[in-house]
Amino acid sequence: MSPILQIRHVTKRFDGLVANNDISFEVGEREILSVIGPNGAGKSTLFKMISSFLRTTSGEVLFRGARISNLSPHAVARKGVVRTFQETTIFRSMTVRENVIVAHHLRARASLAGFFFGSSAARADEAAFAASADEIIGFLGLGAIADELASNLPQGHLRALGMAIGLATNPTVLLLDEPFAGMNHDETMRMVALVRRLRDERGITVLLVEHDMPAVMKISDRIVVLNFGEKIAEGTPAEIQANERVIEAYLGS
Ligand code: ADP
Ligand code: MG
Repeated sequence: MSPILQIRHVTKRFDGLVANNDISFEVGEREILSVIGPNGAGKSTLFKMISSFLRTTSGEVLFRGARISNLSPHAVARKGVVRTFQETTIFRSMTVRENVIVAHHLRARASLAGFFFGSSAARADEAAFAASADEIIGFLGLGAIADELASNLPQGHLRALGMAIGLATNPTVLLLDEPFAGMNHDETMRMVALVRRLRDERGITVLLVEHDMPAVMKISDRIVVLNFGEKIAEGTPAEIQANERVIEAYLGS
């Protein structure tokens, strides 16, 4: 299977600190790949470089064979590589549906002014975006709260809205940074099922950073393990669970 993403010798330095040191791995089309590791291992930094929110110090990221590292985050998102959750913009004074419609504009580069001020030129797009927004809202099971203001939503629904906003940009590769954080067991299992459906029904390639090991082992095709900015292991869940270096990284220190 040809890789959809190639992370090649990626290094990130913050002054003296090496947050990622010469990280290389590939992600297959429609794969669910998790990046795990102790706090401070460099997981979020790596995701920010893949989505181009951070520049690499050296190394490069390729999407379908073309370099995407160090483009603007917007350009990378328009190509279909989308990171969600940590800095996802949710407009608190808008409803769930309005938030998802606005997110469509960000990918389509249609005029946001058209959305806010109702220019006639924007109306056709508007109908298509509204239909798509309702489909995503239905897919995520948010239909009952579509007209709720985001400011009224509990944490679990805000997380689902973050996911809806990510989906509205029509991603090919979705990067989820700690999607299960703060969720109870039932919520996590529902989100695990949802991520599977993103891949199975929509063909989306999913990269996730997650601390919930049972969920990671359940959902992942493959796992990459970081520790102190280094890649220390890569393999299937069974291989990772049996890996001495991984066990040491989690139990040691
Ligand atoms: P993880 O997500 O695995 O917990 P991070 O990627 O957030 O780890 O951080 C890796 C290391 O890089 C940490 O030591 C963190 O303090 C440092 N770091 C992250 N972002 C910055 C930044 N913008 N400036 C300086 N240091 C940073
Ligand atoms: Mg992190």
